[in-house]
Amino acid sequence: MRAHEAGWAHAEGARGPAWLQVPEDPNALVTHLWSTSAAKNDDGALVVGGVDMRDLVAEHGSPAYVLDEDDFRGRARGFRDAFAAYDVYYAGKSFLCTTVARWIVEEGLRLDVCSNGELSVALRAGVDPVLIGYHGNNKTAPELARAIEVGVGRIVADSFHEIERLVDLSADAERPVGVMIRVTAGVEAHTHEFIATAHEDQKFGFSITSGDAFEAVRRVLAAPGLELLGLHSHIGSQIFDSSGFEVAARRVLALHARVRSELGVEMPEMDLGGGFGIAYTTQDDPSTPAKLAAEMSAIVARECKDLGVAEPRLSIEPGRAIAGPSVCTVYEVGTVKEVALDGGARRTYISVDGGMSDNVRTALYDADYSCTLASRHSEAAPALARVVGKHCESGDIVVKDEFLPSDIVPGDLLAVPGTGAYCRSLASNYNHALRPPVIAVRDGAARVIVRRETEDDLLATDVGAVQ
Ligand SMILES: *Cc1c(COP(=O)(O)O)cnc(C)c1O
Repeated sequence: MRAHEAGWAHAEGARGPAWLQVPEDPNALVTHLWSTSAAKNDDGALVVGGVDMRDLVAEHGSPAYVLDEDDFRGRARGFRDAFAAYDVYYAGKSFLCTTVARWIVEEGLRLDVCSNGELSVALRAGVDPVLIGYHGNNKTAPELARAIEVGVGRIVADSFHEIERLVDLSADAERPVGVMIRVTAGVEAHTHEFIATAHEDQKFGFSITSGDAFEAVRRVLAAPGLELLGLHSHIGSQIFDSSGFEVAARRVLALHARVRSELGVEMPEMDLGGGFGIAYTTQDDPSTPAKLAAEMSAIVARECKDLGVAEPRLSIEPGRAIAGPSVCTVYEVGTVKEVALDGGARRTYISVDGGMSDNVRTALYDADYSCTLASRHSEAAPALARVVGKHCESGDIVVKDEFLPSDIVPGDLLAVPGTGAYCRSLASNYNHALRPPVIAVRDGAARVIVRRETEDDLLATDVGAVQ
C-alpha cells in the first residue's frame, strides 16, 4: 500500500486537497511553518519562547496571539543584514503596536505607516519621525498636515490631488518635504505567479505607461516646498520569485533614467516595495533575505549599467516576511462534529473560540493555514479536519484542511502558525467578539504587549449603553 493510501484509510476516505500530505505523526511540528523557538515538549504540548501554551492559556485565556520575540527580531535583523546597503522599512500595516515599533527601530529598521492611526502608534512608541514613511491612496489634507508637522521622513504620493495638497501644505513648511512617487509598473504579483501588462486597472499609484508618473515627477519637481526623493513601486504580496520584481524594476528604472535625460534630475532613491512570501503550509517555499537581496541588487545593477545611470539608494518594505512567521494563534476547542461529504467520505469540524474576527484571511483571501494539537500528545490516527470559528458565517474558517489526531475533544488547545501578519491588524469585533491579546514570549517568560479587549472596551463607543 502506498503512503497516501494508508493515509486515505486512516482519514476515513477524506483526502483533502492534493498538496496536503497525510502526516506519519500528526503530533509532529512541520518546523519551517513555525517560529524558530517553537517545539513540542515531552507531554506533546507546544512550547514557544520557552513558554508552555497550556500555562499561557491558563494565565491569559484563549484565543491569544503568541509572538516569539527572538524570532521577530531575528527576521527583522535578517532583512537588515542581508539588505545592508538599503533602507529597510517594516510595513507596519502587517502588525503594529508600540512594542513592535520599538523593536523595529532597535533592530535598525525604519517604519512604514499607511494611516493616521498607524502614525499615532509609531509616534507614541517614540519612533523618530525621520525614520517613518507614509503611504496611502487617499491621505487627507489634515493627515498630510500632521505628517509634515511632525517631520515624517518621506511621504509616498499616490495621486495628483495629493500632490496638490502637498504643494499647498509645504508652501510654508520649515524644511522641504521628502516625497516619493508611487508608480504602477504594470506588474501584479501574487504567490506563485505574476502578470506583466501594459494596463493598470487598480487604485494605487501613477501609471508609467500613460505618462502620469512622469507628469507627477514634473509637478513635484516644480514645487519649491517638496523634495523629490525617488520612485516607489510595490507589486503585490506573498511573492515567491523575483521575476516580477525584475520586470517592475526594469520599467521603474527606465522612468528613472528618462527623468534624468529629459529633466536633468538624478533622483537619489528608489523603493522596490515589499511582498516577500512566507510559508503558511507545505505548499509554500519562501526565499531567504540573502537570496532576495542578491537577486534584486543584481537586477538593479545590471539595468542601471545598461541605462547608464548611477544606482539610486534602494529601499524595501517587508511586512509579512518579518511579522508573519513569528506569531501563532492558540485556540481552545469547543465542539467537534463529524460531517458526511459527497461520496461517503467524512470530515471533522472542530470549532474553536475565535475565528474570522481574529483571522479573516481565510474568508477574505481563501488563505491556507495549518495547525497542531498544542496541549497534549495523541496516539490516535490522523483524520482530515476543518477548524472553524464561532461566528455566524459558514465562511468562518480558520484552517480549511489539516490532518489532526482523530481524538480531538473540547478543551484541547490548537495552535495555528504564521498568524503574525494581517491577522491582529485585520481583526474585527464581529459578533461583538473581544479581540485577543498579543503576548510576547521569550526565555520562558510571557509578557502581554496588547491586552485582550474587555466588555467595557466593547461598549466604550456605544453612547446609548446604560451603566
Ligand atoms: C502592504 C505593503 C507592503 C508590505 O507587504 P508585505 O506583503 O506585508 O511584505 C509594502 N509596501 C507597500 C506599499 C504596501 O502597501
